[in-house]
Amino acid sequence: PLSSKDRIEDHLITVAVRKRPLNNADMLKKEIDIVTIPSKNQIILHEPKFKVDLTKYLENHIFTFDYTFNEECNNEIVYKYTAQPLLKTIFEGGFATCFAYGQTGSGKTFTMSGNFNDPKDKGIYALTAADIFNEVNSPNYRRLDLAVSCSFFEIYVKKVSDLLNNKKSLKILEDGKQQVQIVGLTERAVSSVNEVLQLIKMGSEERASGQTSANSNSSRSHAVFQIYLRSNNNLKKVHGKFSLIDLAGNERGADTFSSSKITRIEGSEINQSLLSLKECIRALGRKGAHLPFRGSKLTQVLRDSFIGTNAKTCMIAMLSPGVSSCENTLNTLRYADRVK
Ligand code: ADP
Ligand code: MG
Repeated sequence: PLSSKDRIEDHLITVAVRKRPLNNADMLKKEIDIVTIPSKNQIILHEPKFKVDLTKYLENHIFTFDYTFNEECNNEIVYKYTAQPLLKTIFEGGFATCFAYGQTGSGKTFTMSGNFNDPKDKGIYALTAADIFNEVNSPNYRRLDLAVSCSFFEIYVKKVSDLLNNKKSLKILEDGKQQVQIVGLTERAVSSVNEVLQLIKMGSEERASGQTSANSNSSRSHAVFQIYLRSNNNLKKVHGKFSLIDLAGNERGADTFSSSKITRIEGSEINQSLLSLKECIRALGRKGAHLPFRGSKLTQVLRDSFIGTNAKTCMIAMLSPGVSSCENTLNTLRYADRVK
């Protein structure tokens, strides 16, 4: 499953957008769908405007990406064109990274964690793990004798918390060789998709704990799920690593979006980390480019994702199709457009 001619495995950065369907809440609000996907790599946002004479018209914003997924695409299809082509990288001793970007409610967690109520609707965390287990035992890589393990943590403002250990607060250390380490982060050995699903479920419950729906920190924190490959001969050394990140909502702090207001500190922290992230991803494709990974905790802990000779990244920008999300959607599309 690792190679197919129509995939762009050789690109260092892949950028895709995914439009979710209008949901029941949208219907109740009589939302109008203003996003269309005319082809496999184009997307149009139809922004309602008024002329001076108050006649209505639509301003069309057209963007092109590596892939655009419409509301009929499921997680498996999205996975197939985004994270799956990066698998080879980690088996070859490199670092693969997949980001879910977008405003709160746009489908980041649905895409990454999947639908917990329906085990058939797995998200990218579990789909990636499933392929990794297959490949570890395949004739291609069996000789490497690799062990698989996972960690799951969140970054909220400047705090790193272990989602596999009661949200224990963790410190980041950078050694003389600029290696970044999260001290005491739980790493669980895993050998089946079911074990991985249990960890994801447990971590997600931790992430949501202590929150009310009107004050949901989880939309303001970055969740980082990492899958490590280590050689059974030397478990201290990481052979390859896949980082899968459910980013904090990118809506502006001043937004009246949803019932949960984002405080100024949270907003500026999220902004800063998403800006650093954009710069770090852009630097990936550019020789000698400045890598501002110390610009945020997020980019600091993901330093491996942006350096080295074998690092590949994909970003999936999620869109809510309703007209009330128009401004956020345009911001998301512009950000995704600038990443590459
Ligand atoms: P986010 O994590 O970006 O805040 P969620 O993943 O929680 O957003 O999605 C918001 C709501 O929309 C959830 O109820 C989720 O189940 C639903 N949803 C998101 N994406 C899809 C999709 N592609 N198909 C069906 N429902 C979706
Ligand atoms: Mg979410």
